[in-house]
Amino acid sequence: MAIAYDSRLGIGAAPNEWEQEILNQFSGQKVQIWPDISNPEDVEYLILWNTIHDPWVDYPNLKAMLSLSAGVEQLLRDPNIPTDVPLIRMIDISLSVGMAEYVMGAVMRIHLGHHFYSEQKAKHEWGFGQLDLKLAKDRTIGIMGAGELGQASGEMLASAGFRIQYWSRSRKEFDYATSYAGDGELKTFLASTDILVVLVPLTADTTDMINVDFLKMLPKGASVINVARGRIIKDEDLLACLDDGHIEQVILDVFRKEPLPAEHAFWVHPRVFMTPHISSITRAETAVPTIRSHIKAFENGHVPKGLVDRTRGY
Ligand code: NAP
Repeated sequence: MAIAYDSRLGIGAAPNEWEQEILNQFSGQKVQIWPDISNPEDVEYLILWNTIHDPWVDYPNLKAMLSLSAGVEQLLRDPNIPTDVPLIRMIDISLSVGMAEYVMGAVMRIHLGHHFYSEQKAKHEWGFGQLDLKLAKDRTIGIMGAGELGQASGEMLASAGFRIQYWSRSRKEFDYATSYAGDGELKTFLASTDILVVLVPLTADTTDMINVDFLKMLPKGASVINVARGRIIKDEDLLACLDDGHIEQVILDVFRKEPLPAEHAFWVHPRVFMTPHISSITRAETAVPTIRSHIKAFENGHVPKGLVDRTRGY
């Protein structure tokens, strides 16, 4: 059995760290690392990132493609990627815990009004008691997407006392949260959300989904955290809703174009806090053993968790 690692767009760690971890975890196996793919016909498993792979090497005997990213939208758009080979997206404990920690921090920043005190400090104002702070039990966090990362985030927030509600395509059962499903329940979900956390994948259905009509379904004073993909939000609509006071605070980790262009209004907006797509990173120490267990599953005739459904787009 031979494995290839296409290292293009290896994010979150030094490239050598990934190569070393892959060589360690697959010691004794034939591992080819892009661009040194000398025998593509030997390759049965391809480890790759969510990027357009151009130029592409043809692997005629591929059994599966294993993504190191949870999001796979670029792979699904890549005309080179074979459509008849199973594609497995990354589900990884470090990715889930990392995202949950980021979302907890982002929610807390909004919940505690830290942006307000930063603005106050800049003006040398004391302003004791100006903000009507709520306790977590009185704040509803609406999470769009009840998948691996949405649920990890919701569980952590629930343990801190927040009210949690999810919106997903299919209904779920939770003992700590309410589940809303489908377009028919979106309005109800949004109407009772104080802080919206975006954790749906970028698909044909979710592209540009968060526009002005969508945002106006949130209560006045709601805040938005986007840790999924930038193209889910129409930036100009979000800015308009910030400027007319409908949306209170925005925290963004992902953008339509990355790096964010220098002239973009998000850079200077006082109520937009940003991070450069770091909310959760795939870590070699846990992700490569996950890939190894996926390959073992395939070799034993099973399909591992995370099989991408190309018709759904995630
Ligand atoms: P996942 O397990 O596949 O969960 C996706 C969730 O979104 C599911 O609950 C799904 O509903 C829901 N969903 C999908 N399309 C929908 C639609 N049209 N309407 C309503 N709900 C919809 O994915 P995940 O592992 O949690 O990851 C989510 C996304 O996070 C990834 O796709 C990626 O873009 C992003 N991400 C970002 C970072 C970062 O660093 N910023 C890191 C990792 C991942 P069902 O449950 O009904 O299927």
